Amino acid sequence: MQHVDTLIAARWIIPIEPHGSVLDDHAVAVHQGRIVAVLPEKQARERFMPQQLVERRSHVLLPGLVNTHAHAAMSLLRGAAESAHFDHWLQRQVWPLEQRWLDADYVRDGTELAIADMLTSGTTCFADMHLFPEATAQMVAATRMRACIGLPVLDGRTVWADSADEYLDRGLRLHDEYRDDPLVTTMLAPYAPAAVGDATLARVRRAADELELPVTMHLNESRGEVEVGGERALARLERLGLLSPLLLAVHMVHVDEEDMERAAAGGISIAHCPQSNLKLGNGVCPVTALRAHGIALTLGTDGAASNNDLSLLDEMRTAALLASGVRHAPVVAPDDGEPDEVPAMTAHDWLQIATLNGARALGMGDAIGSLLPDKWADLCCIDLARAHTQPVYDVASQIVYAVSREQVSDVWVAGRALVWQGQLTHIDLDDVLRRARRWQQRISGK
Ligand SMILES: [Zn+2]
Repeated sequence: MQHVDTLIAARWIIPIEPHGSVLDDHAVAVHQGRIVAVLPEKQARERFMPQQLVERRSHVLLPGLVNTHAHAAMSLLRGAAESAHFDHWLQRQVWPLEQRWLDADYVRDGTELAIADMLTSGTTCFADMHLFPEATAQMVAATRMRACIGLPVLDGRTVWADSADEYLDRGLRLHDEYRDDPLVTTMLAPYAPAAVGDATLARVRRAADELELPVTMHLNESRGEVEVGGERALARLERLGLLSPLLLAVHMVHVDEEDMERAAAGGISIAHCPQSNLKLGNGVCPVTALRAHGIALTLGTDGAASNNDLSLLDEMRTAALLASGVRHAPVVAPDDGEPDEVPAMTAHDWLQIATLNGARALGMGDAIGSLLPDKWADLCCIDLARAHTQPVYDVASQIVYAVSREQVSDVWVAGRALVWQGQLTHIDLDDVLRRARRWQQRISGK
């Protein structure tokens, strides 16, 4: 018998790899934070002597969800900026509020609130983009969550840095600080094409290539951002050498055929954030057309100021319904006539998008995102014993179309249970909520 820390037996397991597979009455053996094996429960009990046996008889176990675009600190602005017009929302509501209130404490408190929100809805890893990334990283480390912290790069002055030099210096120092951390990784995060000049983007590209760091950037979120100075944003990024597999482009709502061909040739990934795009009136990202071009999709919630929650389960449902209801065909027909029929996306496709695709886009495809031996045991367990999720013919479709976040029973990150039977184990939720209320009182002046 082999000693392991934990054996988790579940009614169903969706390992994500191989694609589409659903395992009945299987178990995951976990030791020192990593997956040792995924096998039939009967065999697992013969082979392993676990320190802890976890039995989840009406549950499905799958990899933790990977949220590829968040602004965690903005949880403190949940509901504070409700304009349905993107420019007004960003420039007249969000920026003035953040200019007034933003500091390291704001980022720490907002991030902890966001982590509580994400963990209890099954997310085990998120990519963040915000000023004071060191405060975000500290909170991620303190709560034992996993995150890829965006190192902000701008040409303009903010409360965090004065110049592109200073952003890059501070960001790369943070990268060094967390170089060997198993839970915190970093990526370069130039905010958006209009916020950074060519020289700065060229430096971002050099740093990304040297350090093999992913790069993330808002791209073509609103109609007004498609062109900068008469040049299409994607053409400019191509000219600067940024369209590569290292790039995770956020939004990509307003794209034409040429943009899609450029994106596909570069091998970039997309962080699709449908709820934020819908709420701010920005439109619908043509995911089926992007996918038909072979471009990898991932899912993000964006910040709570435009969503207004950080549940990737909800995001997945919105994305799946939108993609089947609004099926964008590639714009240009092939020479022989009609455009090809766009293949429908399945619930398993969406589960992969919300897990493994996200992990890959963040440079963690070998470490998380599916239940393979040696990967980190980042797991999410969902109880299907509810009126609205029984009977079960198709587990994947039940998760995508019917499950609610309250059914997330347990969440592990690197083998550590951060949610246990619905309760957060490493976060004092009462204290987090108290601090959130205090911020709301200060920000609203009440
Ligand atoms: Zn964003």
